[in-house]
Amino acid sequence: MENWQNELLHLITSIDELEKYIKIKKEDKESAIVGNTLFPLQITPYYANLLSSLDENHPLRKTILPTSIEESSVENLPNFDKEEEFSPVKGIRVELQGRATIIVTHFCPNHCRYCFRKYWVMTGGSTLSFSDADNILNYIRNNTNITECCLSGGEPLIATDDLLEYIISGLAKIEHVKIIRIFTRIIAVLPSRITDKLVNILKMHPTIYIIAHFDHKDELTNEAIKASRALSDNGIPVFSATVLLRGINDTDEILGELFEKCLQNKIKPFYLYHCVPAIGTKHLVTDINVGTKIIERLYAKLSALCIPLYSVPLIGEKLLAMPSIHKDKLKAEDGSLLLKDFLTDLNLPKE
Ligand code: SF4
Repeated sequence: MENWQNELLHLITSIDELEKYIKIKKEDKESAIVGNTLFPLQITPYYANLLSSLDENHPLRKTILPTSIEESSVENLPNFDKEEEFSPVKGIRVELQGRATIIVTHFCPNHCRYCFRKYWVMTGGSTLSFSDADNILNYIRNNTNITECCLSGGEPLIATDDLLEYIISGLAKIEHVKIIRIFTRIIAVLPSRITDKLVNILKMHPTIYIIAHFDHKDELTNEAIKASRALSDNGIPVFSATVLLRGINDTDEILGELFEKCLQNKIKPFYLYHCVPAIGTKHLVTDINVGTKIIERLYAKLSALCIPLYSVPLIGEKLLAMPSIHKDKLKAEDGSLLLKDFLTDLNLPKE
């Protein structure tokens, strides 16, 4: 059994277990027990060890430790109702721009407190079967307008090598699929998953990009950097996505350090996502102007290569929020912002 598989068998799923790694104050533990009922704690031993090496007030703790505040945060939910209309076969969402997203699995090894896909992640299983993958590949084969496929989840790289090889080699044989992008948090939470075998599977498609998710420079450990370099040194470009999180990374200094460290390690900062109001996320959501101002200031200070696109991730599209949000997709109502795309209505409250 490989190290990453062993880690998955030993995921930390209780606050008592987590306490073996990090000290949790009595009041924080009581609060965590309440938040845990809404969206259960889950992290890899690797990530727990990372937390144990950091200061006990380190902001990354807030990304994994439940809190009772989450209980009061159930308003302004994204509307996912229309999503099924864009899913012609199980496990795929076809977007208007000739792009298809393959939802490889709903499972994630780490449960991020700010996740707006909690209703998926909590279902645990739901990984594609080979027969699901066949149906998806057939659909893509028959729809020549699909030129780009994204692999997403949950955590797509948690699938077995066999399933990933089946999907990626299948896509590589479809001439009109020119690009594959993989959205993953695995390098930050389980870097041992980036094995030589996986790298060789990913190389089966000539134009494949990894969008790795990092929220803080301290997630770029030696192990994570080594995993990322194993990809980039083998011709697989690595980009980064970050979620802007109130009280965690919502300053020029923290994000600037992250973006610079990414770039220094051949990871191009690509997206800064606005944290979407969803169940349990309200306390982590910033005003949208916080993000635009940070980007403006960082743009003035850092190499432009360090600057990601700031966007609001709806379900069907990502709306660019730099330097100003698309006026045709936004209208002010009672001081709040109503964002629309072809799948989602999302109300962003004014702070
Ligand atoms: S990695 Fe993404 S999908 Fe998984 S729990 Fe975190 S935010 Fe949600």
